[in-house]
Parts: sequence; C-alpha cells; structure tokens
Amino acid sequence: MKGGNNVKDLKQQVAYLQGLAEGLGISKETKEGRVLTQIIDVLEGIALSVEDLRAQQADMETYLESIDDDLNELEEDFYEEEEDDTDYVEVKCPKCQDIVCFDADILEDEDLIEVTCPRCNEVVFINDGSYDDKCTCGEEHEEEDEEQLVAEKKSHTEDL
Ligand SMILES: [Zn+2]
Repeated sequence: MKGGNNVKDLKQQVAYLQGLAEGLGISKETKEGRVLTQIIDVLEGIALSVEDLRAQQADMETYLESIDDDLNELEEDFYEEEEDDTDYVEVKCPKCQDIVCFDADILEDEDLIEVTCPRCNEVVFINDGSYDDKCTCGEEHEEEDEEQLVAEKKSHTEDL
C-alpha cells in the first residue's frame, strides 16, 4: 500500500530523535530539555495516530471493495432477469393485418386477458386456450397461425 512507508519512516524518525536526545544527554531538568522532550513525545503520539488512521483506512478500503463486488453481482443478476422478461409474441391482426406485439407472460397468466389490435380494436388473442387450437373466425388457418406464433416467439428469443 502506498503511504505505508511514510508512516514507518515517521515512527523511525521519532525513534531516532528519542535515541538522539538520550544519547546527547538532554536533561528534563533544563528548560530547553523539557521542551524538546515534550516535542518528541507529541511527535510520537502523532506517528501512532497516523498509523491507526492508515489501518482504519485499509479496513475501509477492503470493506468498500466487498460492497463493490456485491453490487456488481446484484447488477448482473438484475440485468439477467430483465433480459429473461423481455419475451414478446407477435400476432397478425385478422382484420387489418397489422402486427400486434404483446408480452409473452400473458400466455401463462392465470387471469383472462384479451389482446386487442391497437389499430382496429379487433381481439387478436385471448389466453383462455381458444387460440391454441382453433380460431374464432372459423377459417382453416389455425395451424399456420400457431406455427407463425411459435416462429415469431422463437425469433424474438434468438434476437436477445
Ligand atoms: Zn387490426
């Protein structure tokens, strides 16, 4: 970690000063000696405080990194689910031939849902199973429609 050496230097320099003061025989009995000794004590206190702050900062960095990792995981999960939900079905309106797009979730929905054409208001799909094997118009094209529906759904899934 950057800065770690500075803290070590600071403590070493204070230790050197303490040794120097002792070696030079600076006495606490003199006025100057008392001031110098007090200054060195204050410096030692500062060096220890800085060391504590560095350790706390390192803990904080580790904690932030773990939060960042968790957030990334959450984001990945969130966007994966978003993609899964974006599944649409297209059907052609039997009246005006317009392509009507609706959420594929309607197919599995337990409530009765009618999908109407936004252009002519014709009902293009009801999720009561009636559109699975027969068409309300009575014409013989249900197999084709069914295949088209599946094909449209498949192509949309592949696009994602
Ligand atoms: Zn229509």
